[in-house]
Amino acid sequence: MTDAPPRYDILIVGAGHGGAQAAIALRQNKFEGSIAIVGEEPEIPYERPPLSKEYFAGEKPFERILIRPAAFWAERQVEMLTGTRVVAVDPVHHEVATADGRTIGYGKLVWAAGGRARPLPIPGGGLPGVQGVRTRADADAMKAAAETARQIVVIGGGYIGLEAAAVLAKAGKKVVLLEALDRVLARVAGEDLSRFFEAEHRAHGVDVRLGVGVAAIEGEGRASGVRLIDGELVEADLVIVGIGIIPAVEPLLAAEADGGNGVSVDAFCRTSLPDVYAIGDCAAHANRFAGGATIRLESVQNANDMATTAARHICGIEAPYEAVPWFWSNQYDLKLQTVGLSTGHDATVVRGDPASRSFSVVYLKGGAVVALDCVNSVKDYVQGRALVLNGAAIASEQLADTGTPLKDMAGAAA
Ligand SMILES: Cc1cc2nc3c(=O)[nH]c(=O)nc-3n(C[C@H](O)[C@H](O)[C@H](O)COP(=O)(O)OP(=O)(O)OC[C@H]3O[C@@H](n4cnc5c(N)ncnc54)[C@H](O)[C@@H]3O)c2cc1C
Repeated sequence: MTDAPPRYDILIVGAGHGGAQAAIALRQNKFEGSIAIVGEEPEIPYERPPLSKEYFAGEKPFERILIRPAAFWAERQVEMLTGTRVVAVDPVHHEVATADGRTIGYGKLVWAAGGRARPLPIPGGGLPGVQGVRTRADADAMKAAAETARQIVVIGGGYIGLEAAAVLAKAGKKVVLLEALDRVLARVAGEDLSRFFEAEHRAHGVDVRLGVGVAAIEGEGRASGVRLIDGELVEADLVIVGIGIIPAVEPLLAAEADGGNGVSVDAFCRTSLPDVYAIGDCAAHANRFAGGATIRLESVQNANDMATTAARHICGIEAPYEAVPWFWSNQYDLKLQTVGLSTGHDATVVRGDPASRSFSVVYLKGGAVVALDCVNSVKDYVQGRALVLNGAAIASEQLADTGTPLKDMAGAAA
């Protein structure tokens, strides 16, 4: 007779931001059943944002980016099954299979597996010295290679690429940043913000090249250069790739959960499979702040708030997910804080002078405030939240008037 597989009342797949917060919220809501977190990485849950910021810069040791110390999990009886990858989900028998051949049963499954760094889909994209940025191991590899590198090429002018470039430029490294579109942050911000960050990077010595296509990574056994589509070879001892993620949902889709780009969830983070929730980067949901469109958000806010929604639902509290999106990025001495979603905006107002390095961009859609990007401007960020939440309609001239705090601009609901 073989032993019955282990079974947990709640099995969380993914020991990242969402997985950790799901377990925390379950215990906060007095859930008393058994909880385990299965994580592919060897570490207990840690914060991912510092991987391209303070941790990469060597300003914070790993212990300081743990979401909670090991003792926290033990005290709350949350079992950590690290170094374990889930490869299949059997929704009928309520079991998962792991890469090392084990079976684990669940009462309810919370899928919080995030995503993998999207690989470069070009010849040489998998050579040693080509480094994506998603895990501690990635950041350690990037740090080690950067130490001896003479020139580093960063592919991708999104937040992660820009943050990595800022750390390296500050450390005195020669950095070339390649972006396929005609401005950095094109997918997430308006032109004013893009041009501001582009200028900042140039001022710090980063060779920012826009509208540049990448044809191949070249090198004998290790990357030594990036061949551009126009034929030019840009030398590189290290190539950092920040071109987005692929949501880690294959086992759920193989089990016939609804989805495609991520797994689809409802307002309580339930997938179409019975007793299976999904949260965080991998969960496609209808978002009120995207006008109800189905999107995936890749942010700590979203992972944490979805985790709380799912945990509450498991505990019998029906509070739908409708948190205001927020995000931050640190580059040089600049702290960018964003609230709302600017996608689909039809007008912008710049509040303050970018030359002062403290200003905000307000995004409007149909006259309503939908988002703010605040650079070194905490007050606008804090006060702008209510405007986004209420979809306040405020005249552009008023928004641009830095003499009037945003909290005094109630506006009319649009
Ligand atoms: C370098 C970097 C910088 C960032 N900066 C910011 C920032 O400044 N602000 C911000 O808001 N957000 C930032 N983000 C995004 C933020 O970190 C993510 O949105 C957040 O981590 C998502 O949480 P999650 O739980 O969905 O996924 P993750 O935190 O990625 O956790 C998923 C975990 O699941 C594991 N896993 C995957 N598949 C399996 C499997 N089959 N079996 C077992 N385990 C599995 C993964 O290994 C991983 O440990 C950054 C991300 C990166 C990579």
